[in-house]
Amino acid sequence: MIKNDNDTIVATATAKGRGGVGIVRVSGIDLSPYMNGLLGKIVTPRVANFSKFLDSQGSTIDEGIVLYFPAPSSFTGESVIEFHGHGGVIVLDSIVARCIDLGARVARPGEFTERAFLNDKIDLTQAEAIADLIDASTVEAARSAARSMQGDFSIVVNQLLDEMIYIRMYVEAAIDFPEEEVDFLNDEVLIGRLNSLEQRLKDVLKTAKQGSLLKDGITLVLAGKPNAGKSSLLNALAGNETAIVTPIAGTTRDVLRDKIIVNGLPINIVDTAGLRESDDPIEKEGMARAWKEIELADRILFLVDSTVDKECELQKVWPEFHKRFPESNQEITLLLNKIDVSGLKAGPFGSGDNTFAISAKNGDGVDKLVENLHKGAGFSSLSEGIFSARRRHLAALQAALNLVTIGLNQLKDSGAGELLAEDLRQAQVQLSEVTGQFTSDDLLGQIFSSFCIGK
Ligand code: GDP
Repeated sequence: MIKNDNDTIVATATAKGRGGVGIVRVSGIDLSPYMNGLLGKIVTPRVANFSKFLDSQGSTIDEGIVLYFPAPSSFTGESVIEFHGHGGVIVLDSIVARCIDLGARVARPGEFTERAFLNDKIDLTQAEAIADLIDASTVEAARSAARSMQGDFSIVVNQLLDEMIYIRMYVEAAIDFPEEEVDFLNDEVLIGRLNSLEQRLKDVLKTAKQGSLLKDGITLVLAGKPNAGKSSLLNALAGNETAIVTPIAGTTRDVLRDKIIVNGLPINIVDTAGLRESDDPIEKEGMARAWKEIELADRILFLVDSTVDKECELQKVWPEFHKRFPESNQEITLLLNKIDVSGLKAGPFGSGDNTFAISAKNGDGVDKLVENLHKGAGFSSLSEGIFSARRRHLAALQAALNLVTIGLNQLKDSGAGELLAEDLRQAQVQLSEVTGQFTSDDLLGQIFSSFCIGK
């Protein structure tokens, strides 16, 4: 566990810039020096107090509303004060500076939420959901983050944990008291409960995957020769009202990235502009990065200009790829573009799901492609009941599921109670990591440092 210190922390909780209102938040054990110093009085808890905010000379910095939440009934579990002043950078910085004069220190990113977690106000999935709610890029992603923040995800995980602990007790008892008349390990009830636990884990994993997709989406590579229509397809995919096209940090000269939302599914587009052989060292480095991106992507769309290239066998269209990844099991979809000129019929082409005929220019066939992208990602646009989840949650749920399946098979095949007991113990550790009951300091540090300041 990371150590909870007793320092009083302060930060501006609202975004930096001009605004009608700006909020400075303070959290600590005893906040009376801050009220006396800044307000000249102790304010009434849990009501909106109007007050002047004073500097060390007693001059007014600003005036506004003060909210005081004495410990433990506050967001952090410590005493908290919020100063709601005018939303100007200088005003808010002056209030923060005054708090520092009075003994506070500036909070690290996410430190208020970290304290809420350490003081058992929320668990780790709820803490992460707060950050995901703030960062949500779609309404659906925000709704699912709000559900996790309110504890929906934690409740389901805790129910699974309870069931796992119950089954463990049963199995451990069977091992410890083998002379008992009833053979616990051959009991149909035990097998039934394990089967149902396995099924519930699968269901939760499925819901969590949807939540993770709503948040992170998929990574899609647009590849093809220059002029095949990659930029045009990007525009066609992004070309509905809900789409947001934003450059993603870390964009290199060679690998352009955009995030677009296509019917609720966030898609991180990697445009590997003109993958080509070159002797130029800088270009070579760029190409190496582009290939790396391709390797990591969830899906690759390879565009072909169907007015020029009549071939639709990938091996012939893109021999370099086969040379590099002869055994690749990545999903590659061949797109025969410009069918408005070549006259091919829009939609799936030939047998199977891996070739589509489209016109990036007039949008023919693009809807079928989008349907296929959603289907391939396992994405459903119905987000009711979905809770937000992160990759680490999926990994832990998957590991727990695998362990339960292995343990169950060991019990069925060879009545191996000891092995089942060990698998269940490890599965419980995996599940406990989701809500933060067993979590390393490094992971906690990593999670909270990705928050914004003041949260
Ligand atoms: P990129 O180099 O692969 O990004 O290709 P662009 O998207 O820039 O397209 C190259 C040219 O092909 C542009 O003049 C586009 O207008 C044109 N183009 C792209 N898609 C289509 C299409 O579906 N039909 C037709 N007729 N032209 C297209």
